[in-house]
Amino acid sequence: MIFIFVDTAIIKIKAGDGGDGKVSFHREKYIASGGPDGGDGGKGGDVLFVANCNLSALSDFRYKKIFQAEDGQNGKSGRSSGKSAKDLVIYVPNGTILKDLKNGKILADICKNTPQIIAKGGRGGFGNSHFATATRQAPRFAKPGLAGEEMEIQLELKLLADVGIIGYPNVGKSTLISVVSHAKPLIANYHFTTLVPVLGVVKFRDDFSFVIADIPGLIKGAAKGAGLGHQFLRHIERCRLFLHMVDISGSEGRDPKDDFETINNELCEFNNNLSKKFMLVVGNKCDLASKEKIEDFKQYVQKLGYEFFPISAATHQNMDELLRRISELLQKLPPICQYASAPSDEFETLNNNHEISITKKGNIYFVEGDWLIHILKSVNLEDYESLKYFQNIMIKYSVASALKNAGIRDGDIVDIYGVKFDFVS
Ligand code: GDP
Ligand code: MG
Repeated sequence: MIFIFVDTAIIKIKAGDGGDGKVSFHREKYIASGGPDGGDGGKGGDVLFVANCNLSALSDFRYKKIFQAEDGQNGKSGRSSGKSAKDLVIYVPNGTILKDLKNGKILADICKNTPQIIAKGGRGGFGNSHFATATRQAPRFAKPGLAGEEMEIQLELKLLADVGIIGYPNVGKSTLISVVSHAKPLIANYHFTTLVPVLGVVKFRDDFSFVIADIPGLIKGAAKGAGLGHQFLRHIERCRLFLHMVDISGSEGRDPKDDFETINNELCEFNNNLSKKFMLVVGNKCDLASKEKIEDFKQYVQKLGYEFFPISAATHQNMDELLRRISELLQKLPPICQYASAPSDEFETLNNNHEISITKKGNIYFVEGDWLIHILKSVNLEDYESLKYFQNIMIKYSVASALKNAGIRDGDIVDIYGVKFDFVS
């Protein structure tokens, strides 16, 4: 079986539309004409994301690409509201970052099991019973429901691990993680046996535990896409500490110093910040290496300013010392980085902001403002009374006076996102 590790995906999500408000009038035997009794439309379902720790890849999104929540029901007679639709919950692996494909903005970093709303369902439209006033006893209009939010998003998994083990293939990364945690990665004496990053939880003494990840596939050229490295480099970005492992015995005929330099260069090339992370250098396979070799490598890395641990993962040599030092460091190092979501545009429009801009071309006055889009979506312009309602809003929020200030005269045309009116003062 070929297992393909999927850690990015592009999907489309669409929240449900709100149900339309109903126009209806109360009817009963022997009662000539009752009042308006059209109910409101129900709310469309939201699209929510929540982390599920049992998922380790985004494979579910390879084939299914469109996720749509249900629409709210339309309002009914007898002031009966339409039912609101159920929300759609999408499960992703812990550490999945969601970005709006349109502008690259981070929408959320899904790291907790509290669901986050990413696309909001549309509000249901008001039924005509909402619009009855003393002077308008039989409103013949209702509002359509608002459209649910819709967007294309990119999912990107960046694992959450405290410690990332990096190093050339076959140096013993999987062996170490299998010795210090309950993770059971594939261990074999050939390159690229590990095709997915493996996470393990290390319990050190009774009161301290941390997550360690075995990052496979780093070789020369990884940052430019050689081997599988490029795919996996993103997963080490969030680690708080690196264990850089080399095969100190040189059992494969490579020089550990060359390996060490190569991997460091790859990190730097992929993302310069990676080379600034705290790094412990681990010389593995000491059971096969001479004392001189170990000493020589130790001098080399210490001169470069790193701490060095000679170990043998296979024979469990120096495991306790290594884990103790990792625990000490983790208590001091900054926490796992989480990505903040960019402020949404909606916040700006909800923020009581009724700003508009007016541009004039000939006798046409173009009016723009984000909040106007919302208003236009919720008004049925075919209907006279609904239109009047719209005009009142234009007066209330000073659009009419702003047009007058801009020099508009009777008979000039007002264009609001393609909807045209003759101006009458
Ligand atoms: P990875 O590719 O870095 O994950 O390396 P693996 O953990 O799969 O190990 C590669 C090979 O090295 C396997 O055959 C292991 O048994 C062997 N190996 C790992 N650690 C040691 C060690 O400390 N001493 C010796 N002699 N062999 C080891
Ligand atoms: Mg491995």
